Amino acid sequence: MPQRPYIVGNWKMNGTRAMLSEARAIDRAAQRLMKVEVAVAPPYTLLHAVHREAAQIAVGAQDCHPGQEGAHTGDISAGMLADAGAKFVILGHSERRESHAESNSCVQEKALAALDAGMRIIMCCGEADKIRQSGKAEDFVIQQLRESLPTLENAAENLTVAYEPIWAIGTGNSATVGDVSAMHTAIRALLVELYGVEEGAEVRILYGGSVNPENARELLSADEVGGALVGGASLTADSFMGIALAAAEIQDS
Ligand code: PEP
Repeated sequence: MPQRPYIVGNWKMNGTRAMLSEARAIDRAAQRLMKVEVAVAPPYTLLHAVHREAAQIAVGAQDCHPGQEGAHTGDISAGMLADAGAKFVILGHSERRESHAESNSCVQEKALAALDAGMRIIMCCGEADKIRQSGKAEDFVIQQLRESLPTLENAAENLTVAYEPIWAIGTGNSATVGDVSAMHTAIRALLVELYGVEEGAEVRILYGGSVNPENARELLSADEVGGALVGGASLTADSFMGIALAAAEIQDS
């Protein structure tokens, strides 16, 4: 892992104020692992509270609206999230693409809005099992990214990509190291094509999909893996920081 590894927790629709103690424990542990960049994306309701508790970790959101303000009941703009303390936003997660019918162009609009609000982006991509079985996973993911990524001048420096095969999310079946390396290598080639050799090489590509403290070391050691986007295992400080510790050990080895 040439760059500082990035370990991000996606709490999804989990957590009430009782979870703030986990956030504090994550933050304390992150202060002892300075070689690793640790971040969490709690639900909106906890964003500001986690931001206030955090001395070390960055706090982000799990989505944003593409507009700045207006008559959009229930939605939240990137500027509002930044105001609440969010430093990044996860965009294009497969759960949003699926249950909120988010198209690639809608995700791209959101990415532009997030950049405009001064936030970093974690752009998710990933194929369904049927596509993997058909042998077209790489073509699908590259096309998805081509249509979702912003190509503004400041985009690459504020971008992280997360490859999350849908069949690996929350199932306990993580992808094989070979499949992860192959996909991340294809994504790297696209990033270099879109942003140039230097900037494209700097963008971290995270793997997500059933990462836990037991499999983290192997997955994080794979070619072109710059960290992990973690769902279920990010809900307790013990398991989440077990993954961050694996990343730190790889840095030391
Ligand atoms: C996710 O949904 O971003 C994710 C990676 O979930 P899990 O770690 O639970 O598979």
